Amino acid sequence: LASRDFHPLDTVISVGNLKIGGPEPVYMAGPCSVESRTGMIEIAQRVKEAGAHILRGGAFKPRSSPYSFQGLGEEGLKYMAEAREITGLPIISEVMEPETVNLMVDYVDILQIGARNMQNYALLRAVGRTQTPVLLKRGFSNTIEEWLMSAEYILSEGNPNVILCERGIRTFETYTRNTLDLNAVPVVKHLSHLPVIVDPSHGVGKWRYVTAMSRAAMAAGAHGLIVEVHPNPQEALSDGPQSLTLENFENLIEEVNRIVRVL
Ligand code: PEP
Ligand code: MN
Repeated sequence: LASRDFHPLDTVISVGNLKIGGPEPVYMAGPCSVESRTGMIEIAQRVKEAGAHILRGGAFKPRSSPYSFQGLGEEGLKYMAEAREITGLPIISEVMEPETVNLMVDYVDILQIGARNMQNYALLRAVGRTQTPVLLKRGFSNTIEEWLMSAEYILSEGNPNVILCERGIRTFETYTRNTLDLNAVPVVKHLSHLPVIVDPSHGVGKWRYVTAMSRAAMAAGAHGLIVEVHPNPQEALSDGPQSLTLENFENLIEEVNRIVRVL
């Protein structure tokens, strides 16, 4: 079902009036974690002004340590829904457990499956039983074929709205948090009809390189980006080092649009 062989035309996924996978690039931006009500509303307004189309924010966080901030849970989803109410931006947030899928679909416009859950088949099946668009992140140790098979789990349950997201893989290089595998963009576009989005923030793990890799992702043919933005990255409760300030995000959009215009 994910293969181009049986579905030659590109899949375009509608989220409200937005189209993901069409000729217009889609930019998703926001904090790694939802941290506060006022913070979320402020970020939403600012990233919208800068040119973002969708607001991101984690309410249930898959942290490597159980002692790290785990997210605000449903309270965080409420803050995001309020930010959507005010700005009109659709929202995306990560779902970690099959049991919370029903709760999440009441709040979000796009369900995010995190890298750590790419092969959580019970979770893939559970989101496959909804019709809510799903952003499926590539696991950091998974091949492109395994990633497409995970998409297959969602599609085969009856949800055709799958968006693929390359977010970097583990290699021998440790200077960057991961190695953004931009090879995956043309490969996936060849093998599959599904839209492909790039997450340069987790891909490099350091804010300084995020804009360059965003430009590269769009030049490679990505349908859009998902970027972590925080008004004060040094104070962020998660992923501060890779988060762009609002000013840096405005600059990113300008630079990326310059590339997109000549494509
Ligand atoms: C995130 O988007 O904040 C996140 C946890 O991403 P990943 O699953 O790619 O690590
Ligand atoms: Mn993050």
